[in-house]
Amino acid sequence: MARSPRSSLWADVVLNLALLSVVTIAVNALLTGKVVQGREADLRSGLAAEVSRVLALRVAVSGTEVDRLDAEAPGVWQEALDSAVLPEGEPFFAVLTNPSLEPVAVLGNWPPEVMDTGLEPALSSQSQWLLDATDLRAALVGRRTERGEWQARPGFFTGTVYAVASSPVIRSGRVAGAVRVAVPVGTPFFGPVDRRSLQVLALSMVTSAVILVLFGYFLFRRRILVPMEALVSGTKELTAGNFSTRLPPGPANELGELARVFNDMAVALERYRGTNEEQLAELREINADLSRAREDLIFAEKMATVGRLAAGVAHEVGNPLASVIGFVEILENDDGTMSDDLLPRIRAELDRIHRIIRDLLSYARPSEAGPDASTEFRVEAVAVEDVISTAAQLVTAQPRFAQVEFDVQLRDNLPRVHVDGGRLQQILLNLFVNAGEALQGQGRITVKERALDEGQEAGMLRLAVQDDGPGVDPRARSNIFEPFFTTKDVGSGTGLGLAVSARIVEQMGGTLQLDRNHPGGACFHLDLPLVDEEAS
Ligand code: ADP
Repeated sequence: MARSPRSSLWADVVLNLALLSVVTIAVNALLTGKVVQGREADLRSGLAAEVSRVLALRVAVSGTEVDRLDAEAPGVWQEALDSAVLPEGEPFFAVLTNPSLEPVAVLGNWPPEVMDTGLEPALSSQSQWLLDATDLRAALVGRRTERGEWQARPGFFTGTVYAVASSPVIRSGRVAGAVRVAVPVGTPFFGPVDRRSLQVLALSMVTSAVILVLFGYFLFRRRILVPMEALVSGTKELTAGNFSTRLPPGPANELGELARVFNDMAVALERYRGTNEEQLAELREINADLSRAREDLIFAEKMATVGRLAAGVAHEVGNPLASVIGFVEILENDDGTMSDDLLPRIRAELDRIHRIIRDLLSYARPSEAGPDASTEFRVEAVAVEDVISTAAQLVTAQPRFAQVEFDVQLRDNLPRVHVDGGRLQQILLNLFVNAGEALQGQGRITVKERALDEGQEAGMLRLAVQDDGPGVDPRARSNIFEPFFTTKDVGSGTGLGLAVSARIVEQMGGTLQLDRNHPGGACFHLDLPLVDEEAS
């Protein structure tokens, strides 16, 4: 689990304080220990001197009948040492020597460092100890007491330090021997520590620990940790978007400065957000205006299209109406034999007019389906020759086409095209009516299949609809597909026929173009998508 920065900081502080405490207490203990040890060594030296003096006196007054301190016959001397009243519980060692530095009697145990391990030379180590003792030699020449310190196995940490002192044994006015006393003081490093000193030491350690803990609590917790916690929680608030957050004034240090800077930053951010919100509101308004403007534009464009279609429809309706009028004229002069043939045609033409107007109305009517609803075609596989003959029949039925010859040159088994039959008929009618008008009632309209241009995508059928009229005026060639372009008189042409036809063909996946290379009259290429027989 990841630790939070706060707990790790707190742990750091505690750890460092603990280390500081340990080091301080250790140094404290060492110094105090050294002072106590010095005092204790002084005390032990005094004790050794005192004991040696008492024992020397004791030996001087006992065994008056024996003159010499004989190493071979300790007898009375040992008794004299043993009978001395000495402080109890002190582990001191005393040795009585004669003037030849030979031990006569011993009280206590030899220090382990001078105990001989082997049998021979039995006295060498202990004798050496006595020979080396300057205090003892001083005592043998009559100096009353000599204090000193002897350390067995010299070293900083090992061995034992002894306080040593020697006193002369004066019998009958001359030095008969000497008593040397050794009291262990402790190891060189630690030394002896008495109980009182231990209490002082413990008290000083506890005091140090308490002071350090208080110091840590007040300094670190109050002056560092609390301001830092405030900073962390303030930053979190700020991150959460609460820009009104402010920190309490921190302590008079860098953390306090940080709190001030933090507050300045929060003020700046709050101001910045205010400006941002204003700008955002402005942007929203502009956006709303824009979408209103776009809706207006769409509506305006739709109305323009409605107008254009209305005009186009009027034109489209004109052709079937002309057919109906033509049929009615025939029926008027007819003796009743044609009615069976013509009435269904009239019916079909009227249906077409009805459908065109219904389409225009459904387009103009605001609907959920949108403006493209009227452009949905009933696309299916259509036999193009049937549509051509129907359209041709429609126009040839009119009297003004009486002198116009129709020449449909199509091979048998022409593949079917993938279009809306009604729309195709509308286009063909347009082309035929235009051709008839160009021919001014006399001439030939030819419909034939043409090869596609080189490099053109396959899957199309190209029909050429041509007439032997005067052809399209060269100055008008670039404009004939533009809406409302017409060379005809006002009232006879709307300029919408070719524009609408081209658009319908394109929406069915084909094209309608003027063949500019055709000699003589006008020739239009109508490219229609073939039915993909494999797929169907
Ligand atoms: P409109 O027939 O109402 O004028 P169209 O878009 O059908 O509108 O035709 C645009 C123009 O193209 C005509 O005014 C005419 O100048 C020219 N045009 C169309 N078909 C022929 C044609 N077969 N022969 C000569 N000119 C034609």
